[in-house]
Amino acid sequence: MNGMMRPQGFGSLSIMSPTEPCALGGALQSIGKQSTHRIANYIEIAVAWPWSNHPILKDCLVADCDYIYADATTNIFHLNDAHHWTREQIADWVASIESQEEQAGISGKGPRVAVLEEKVCR
Ligand SMILES: [Zn+2]
Repeated sequence: MNGMMRPQGFGSLSIMSPTEPCALGGALQSIGKQSTHRIANYIEIAVAWPWSNHPILKDCLVADCDYIYADATTNIFHLNDAHHWTREQIADWVASIESQEEQAGISGKGPRVAVLEEKVCR
């Protein structure tokens, strides 16, 4: 995923905005897959970057934010909409997790279950 030259948009409709896309919409534009149908964009994201919707529970990266995200896609729109991170900042974060996820493949259980248990069961 990468940033775009267009102004950054915010809010749920920005994923399909051709002129002011959010980080997710911008990423889709960069691969020519942005759709005018809002939900179709989430499918395109899952197809293009399968790791982005692997279930995981983690705390938001921003200090003093109590948001817990359930997958990378959820955190991308949270960072975009709630914290107004730039697409470059978000792309840097994505790059940091993308390589981990690609190395792990569709890793299923292991560490994820441990994280879930830590978050849900305490
Ligand atoms: Zn947050």
